[in-house]
Amino acid sequence: MTHFSRLLELDSECVWHPYSAIGADSPMYLVKSAKGVRIKLFDGTELIDGMSSWWSAIHGYNHQGMNQALSSQLQDMSHIMFGGLTHQPAIDLANQLIKLTPKSLKTVFFVDSGSVAVEAALKMAIQYWQSKRYHKKQKILTIRHGYHGDTFGAMSVSDPENGMHKLFSEMLIKQFFADAPSCKFDQPCLESDIISFKTQLINHHPNIAAVILEPIVQSAGGMYIYSPQYLQQVRELCNQYDVLLILDEIATGFGRTGKMFACEHASIEPDIMCVGKALTGGYLTLAATLTTQHIAQVISEGEPGLFMHGPTFMANPLACVAGMSSLKLLLKSPWEKRIEFIETTLKEGLEPCLAYPPVKDVRVIGAIGVVELHQPVNINKIQPLFVEAGVWIRPFNTIIYIMPPYVINPEDLRTLINSIIRVVSVIGRKP
Ligand SMILES: *Cc1c(COP(=O)(O)O)cnc(C)c1O
Repeated sequence: MTHFSRLLELDSECVWHPYSAIGADSPMYLVKSAKGVRIKLFDGTELIDGMSSWWSAIHGYNHQGMNQALSSQLQDMSHIMFGGLTHQPAIDLANQLIKLTPKSLKTVFFVDSGSVAVEAALKMAIQYWQSKRYHKKQKILTIRHGYHGDTFGAMSVSDPENGMHKLFSEMLIKQFFADAPSCKFDQPCLESDIISFKTQLINHHPNIAAVILEPIVQSAGGMYIYSPQYLQQVRELCNQYDVLLILDEIATGFGRTGKMFACEHASIEPDIMCVGKALTGGYLTLAATLTTQHIAQVISEGEPGLFMHGPTFMANPLACVAGMSSLKLLLKSPWEKRIEFIETTLKEGLEPCLAYPPVKDVRVIGAIGVVELHQPVNINKIQPLFVEAGVWIRPFNTIIYIMPPYVINPEDLRTLINSIIRVVSVIGRKP
């Protein structure tokens, strides 16, 4: 038995993967290294990366400048506790984030993952109202098809079906859900689109601390892209009914939709915002929850006068340096032009998919291309087809999607697109 088939056997026996089973016979590929937009497997196969490791590796892998910044930080320290101690990487990154995000956001709470950033956001909202002695404002309103993470608070505001509310029904907090908007990105938001949300707010606002939404693009809940006008109306209604607005920009942040943050499509600002994923350019796990001066002040002056959260690895210096280094790279790159180019190419390139019977819809925004099928994909069958085509694309449920690193060249992007067209043409054929 070769070394790498033994490794894969061990993996299958004892290592859990995301949403996976132990001992399953689903295809698994052993990665040796990654550089630029190429993922190199142990058997020598090279794959063009269509996933950016789930929205994060926006500059591609193994970037020399980022590597240098990180190894230099290693010489100083890789980690130090954040209680009572602080450091330049955290201060620099917090300041950079405040500059980059909507201007009302003035404070930064660092956490170690997106889900935890959502937990912190929910706790901030509830603590805010507690401090103002609105003790009944403890619930959250959200829309269906959302995804906010895998921890209990985050699950409670994710789509009831995708979030598997039934499985965890005894533990899961019951929140309020409105229908997802049906108005697409370029469509106006009609009264019929917003009525469900409005009704929930009218009926329950005395108990609602905050609304949480993914702005413009709903990610893992189905890759739906909705109208900025809907988001504008949500903002107005939140103001009107005295409810905070949390925007989860964990997937959409840092340029992915063509704007630095997706809320800019609607020219609105949240009261609390979560960022993660692309924050460190895919190098290390780091996320953050930002809020306004006012909310920070109310929490800090209220009872008990502290924000009740503090992860062990909060503001890890290596991760903060990766964040700083990634943001510098992004800001000095022509990222808007690059994403515009990717958007145009995806729109024109993926359209032919609509001609194939298994395809229900094609949608594109920024550097995100989505092909929705009528039936869920058989991942065991479809995954090897993509690998044979020399690309790394990882579909879920009925969705085949790509969100390549921003630095991808036209030829590689074309290969990604062609592989999708080929795969939808193959799965359409009768056996
Ligand atoms: C991925 C994601 C999360 C969860 O982030 P993790 O780092 O996986 O915990 C939360 N919200 C959105 C919108 C996401 O895409």
